[in-house]
Amino acid sequence: MLDGLDPEQREVAMALHGPVCVLAGAGTGKTRAITHRIAYGVRAGILQPTSVLAVTFTNRAAGEMRGRLRQLGAGGVQARTFHSAALRQLQYFWPKAVGGDLPRLLERKVQLVAEAAARCRIRLDRNELRDVTSEIEWSKVTQTVPADYPAVVAKTQRDAPRDPAEISQIYAMYEQLKRDRSVIDFEDVLLLTVAILQDRHDIADHVRRQYQHFVVDEYQDVSPLQQRLLDLWLGDRDTLCVVGDASQTIYSFTGATPDHLLNFRTRHPNATVVKLVRDYRSTPQVVHLANGLLGQARGRAAEHRLELVSQRESGPDPAHTEYADEPAEAEGTARRIRDLIAAGVPAGEIAVLYRVNSQSEIYEQALADAGVPYQLRGAERFFERAEVREAGIALRGAARAGGNDSLLDDAEGLPAEVRAVLSTKGWTTEPPAGSGAVRDRWESLAALVRLAEDFEQAKPGATLSDLVAELDERAAAQHAPTVQGVTLASLHSAKGLEWDAVFLVGLNEGMMPITYAKTDEQIEEERRLLYVGVTRARFHLSLSWSLSRSPGGRAGRRPSRFLNGLRPGSVALGMRGAVGGGGIERGPGPVVKRGRRGPARCRVCGKTLTDAGEMKLMRCDDCPSDMDEALYERLRDWRAVRAKEISQPAYCVFTDKTLMAIAEAVPGSAGELAGISGVGARKLDRFGTAVLAICAGETVEEGLGGAVDEV
Ligand code: ATP
Ligand code: MG
Repeated sequence: MLDGLDPEQREVAMALHGPVCVLAGAGTGKTRAITHRIAYGVRAGILQPTSVLAVTFTNRAAGEMRGRLRQLGAGGVQARTFHSAALRQLQYFWPKAVGGDLPRLLERKVQLVAEAAARCRIRLDRNELRDVTSEIEWSKVTQTVPADYPAVVAKTQRDAPRDPAEISQIYAMYEQLKRDRSVIDFEDVLLLTVAILQDRHDIADHVRRQYQHFVVDEYQDVSPLQQRLLDLWLGDRDTLCVVGDASQTIYSFTGATPDHLLNFRTRHPNATVVKLVRDYRSTPQVVHLANGLLGQARGRAAEHRLELVSQRESGPDPAHTEYADEPAEAEGTARRIRDLIAAGVPAGEIAVLYRVNSQSEIYEQALADAGVPYQLRGAERFFERAEVREAGIALRGAARAGGNDSLLDDAEGLPAEVRAVLSTKGWTTEPPAGSGAVRDRWESLAALVRLAEDFEQAKPGATLSDLVAELDERAAAQHAPTVQGVTLASLHSAKGLEWDAVFLVGLNEGMMPITYAKTDEQIEEERRLLYVGVTRARFHLSLSWSLSRSPGGRAGRRPSRFLNGLRPGSVALGMRGAVGGGGIERGPGPVVKRGRRGPARCRVCGKTLTDAGEMKLMRCDDCPSDMDEALYERLRDWRAVRAKEISQPAYCVFTDKTLMAIAEAVPGSAGELAGISGVGARKLDRFGTAVLAICAGETVEEGLGGAVDEV
């Protein structure tokens, strides 16, 4: 059990009594050390599996931890997020503490906040609505009630997005509306659990009898409310092990603070404090960049930084690439990803990480154009997808039937049974060609097959019923198995995870740091966010930015200030003007036309366009169109036939927007067609001849859709 750990990690694993605090940098094996600690304690008979509660930051991390614990022989240990642990307790104790059923959980606050604002006769635009909603969330996790909000803002010199008195009013009305409608929100789950544990000693005792040992991962991002809950769980005991890295604090905007981690020793003078510095995740090249990034950091978290030492063999230098514009950056990134996959890196081991979710669209498009499968983190949850639900029903049916279907051969075990059942739902040994909905469906089913294989490995002899129970448990915890596609995710959601190849995109001023980071603290949090991104990479790391947003726009953007002194040819912070030069790659020149076009402007009203869909059309969505309607209809008819031929949804051929853009431009040559956004090289190859023929007014026979048919 302890063999796979270094001496310091072993110290963590063996410190089973009393408070333990692990302060360590990214990739040093914190998560590994605590999982082994729990497993070791269970094996040694010192920890009762059911008396341990491990808390991690995301459902996915919790699911992974359960998986690892099971592999180490410590299944049965609860690994949850604060939220899911609290929700479970709340559901259990609500009838006794309050009576009746737990009120319904509100999915999205924004709507109710908008209604509350309207009732207070306060007009909020979309951004203000978002900011006021975050402000309410912040107030709740810092346990600030509406009446106290203005005073707290004044005291903490908080930069409120509106007049604090107005926010306080909206906040109070929002709480009122929730009560009237018997709903609770995400934060209420913690607040109510805290309230019940505080008021009802019998219930608190019950919970404390159940859980004797607590382990918290990513402790640097614990909020005051979560800390309060943890304190209540503990009572007067100190059987707590926390691990974290102050340099990875990236949720302080929601009220989290690394102070609890950094002050742990003061609060628990007898704590065992362990520091880890060996980085097992990343190559010396990646670690060098990460250390350089932190070297420039300021503030309390930075004072506690630890210089990482890579334990891995040398790898490639991180690539720094400058592109002319965002579409060129996305296309260039997709090309590199395709090359990596061709060179043998599995798609599931590659991630593209960005600052805000809205950056995903352009990368989705570029990857689809390049024929690369991808998965969107934070998109529809795995177990909620229709095909996964259908597959679950089929597996359950088969399990109930005792797994004796004539299709199945007992000798081949669980994975074969699962493959047989899922093949009735569309699973095949080889993936269908291309991307799109058909492929997505297949990827989901393939992920279930892999899950069955892993499950059988971890639990030889497991039956179909065991698997169904496992799936239910995962579904309850919203833990999706890894789909074999490139991950597209925001930097925030990449926390704790790792990939062989990581592409950090959009690293220009305005995006990193993001425009609305203004104070020194906010800027430092952005730097830490980039540090989290860099340290996700095991081997390949790519950093890129683009000089203008849209093709042909003014090349006025600068690469992120955080890269000054780290980017080849640049100098450290504060010495402007000397950037650029040797070592930085320039993205390959834009394909056809891009760059020659002026800034993307609406060709009807002349307004500068920033929305991707509008840029594709080259006009505002609501400006009148001069599209050739008849041509558009012919293109759509052709697309329907083509899509059917290649068994893919229509938008995989071309999206509506692209077809409209074609019907408006009526391209007369391959060059002109290629200049239309959404027509990549691959699509030009497959569909170019047919589309040009339709534009020229020729009749295209069904089945003669493109030059070369790859399917
Ligand atoms: P983060 O701060 O990003 O959460 P972490 O400190 O939790 O990182 P882990 O995810 O536990 O780090 O470990 C990073 C990687 O290094 C994992 O792939 C893990 O399996 C590996 N690793 C950790 N410790 C060792 C070790 N002693 N020997 C071999 N590999 C190790
Ligand atoms: Mg970790």
